[in-house]
Amino acid sequence: MGEGAPPGMSVMDLLAAVRDADERHRIFAERLEDPLAYEVEHAFHFSAKDNLCTSDFQARAGSRILEGYRPPFDATAVARLRQAGGLLIGKTNMDEFGFGSFSTNSATGVPRNPYDAARSCGGSSGGAAAAASMLEGHLAVGVSTGGSISCPASFCGVVGLTPTYGRVSRWGLIDYGNSLDKIGLLSASSGMIRRYLPAISGPDPLDPTSQVQPPLDMSGQIRSVAVPEEALTGLSGSMRAAFEDAVARLERMGVEVRRGAMPALRFALSAYYILATAEASTNLARYCGMRYGDIEQETDQSFNEFFSRVRSRGLGREAKRRILLGTFCRMVGFRDRYYIKALQVRELIIREYEEQFRSVDAVLTPTMPFVAPRFDEIENMSALEAYQADFLTGPPNLAGLPHISIPCAYIDGLPAGMQLVAPRWEEGRLLSLAERWENGFEYRRPEGRA
Ligand code: GLN
Repeated sequence: MGEGAPPGMSVMDLLAAVRDADERHRIFAERLEDPLAYEVEHAFHFSAKDNLCTSDFQARAGSRILEGYRPPFDATAVARLRQAGGLLIGKTNMDEFGFGSFSTNSATGVPRNPYDAARSCGGSSGGAAAAASMLEGHLAVGVSTGGSISCPASFCGVVGLTPTYGRVSRWGLIDYGNSLDKIGLLSASSGMIRRYLPAISGPDPLDPTSQVQPPLDMSGQIRSVAVPEEALTGLSGSMRAAFEDAVARLERMGVEVRRGAMPALRFALSAYYILATAEASTNLARYCGMRYGDIEQETDQSFNEFFSRVRSRGLGREAKRRILLGTFCRMVGFRDRYYIKALQVRELIIREYEEQFRSVDAVLTPTMPFVAPRFDEIENMSALEAYQADFLTGPPNLAGLPHISIPCAYIDGLPAGMQLVAPRWEEGRLLSLAERWENGFEYRRPEGRA
């Protein structure tokens, strides 16, 4: 078994623990069931978010429209983890195509928070964060477009690392927004991420946006951080107090903390939702009932009728909302006002981070403005209120910068994270800081962890 796993645990015991956690928290869209078939040597166990293609499970990306789709190949990140000795134990539940922050927009199952099953795991990689939180020694592969690794990491009390755009190949990932999507890792602490991030990194001839890159350097440190004042507005009172305690602790660790301003952060959320939905609305056009998954047999109608019928049935409400929003934003007549404007805001945000990095090693904010909400609270949120929860996780994703969410507090027993954003290719510094943080801050594990 891999480091961190209980010594001597057999695959049979592991899968029993996985089943038990899954039954209580609905972590997996599909998982390994037959231990005998998989009595193989492995160094560690991992899961893949359901929008990653793997040859042994369906890939539905949380959507009904992909029901039954079994890819004949592995995503590069998954293939590389198998080569490194990983055993893939299942596909984790998520918001449909990544659309959401609470994993409630899922057709395959809504994961329940490890600390309180009446609450959300966050999203869209909610199942991934729950797996990382509930299973000892587990590595969960997640994906972030606008915060889908940081958000659930914060709500589930685990470490979530989103790499620099282009560090990890996107081959085999079911696209949400191609200019924003990044594959990353979640685990209960930073050790497994430090160990296996190098395995999934590096250019890939199958993904032209994967980049020739500097190797991961785990020796770099974060000596100074900037806290932008814009990040402290809109937080719950208890989150603000918890964050200030974490800042004080970082200062005691010798990290210099400067208060600063990043005015463009105020526009990041609007820009993110315009760009992300514009890209999503074109990506989803391929699900027309002819190629993947839920294939429609009756073809006696015109294409438009056929297409509408398949999509009305196969796509959830939030996916439809995003198609409408994204299509509107790139329509002739509105394009300049929305899409092009959002690209300009993206540029501004990139410049503001560059400005910060001239004097500090990282930008520090809370990850989410509140702790994991209850499902009844989520039901009463408007779409806009739900989108607003992403105001701190959107900006680093727009800029393609590496960032990490680290558990930094427990508020009434529920975990909360802080988020650090570093310059391109500086994941190593983020992971070094997480390791130092873990030497002095004790993570509290949920009950029933296996
Ligand atoms: N919550 C954001 C959205 O709904 C981000 C999701 C993601 O990163 N996939 O778009």
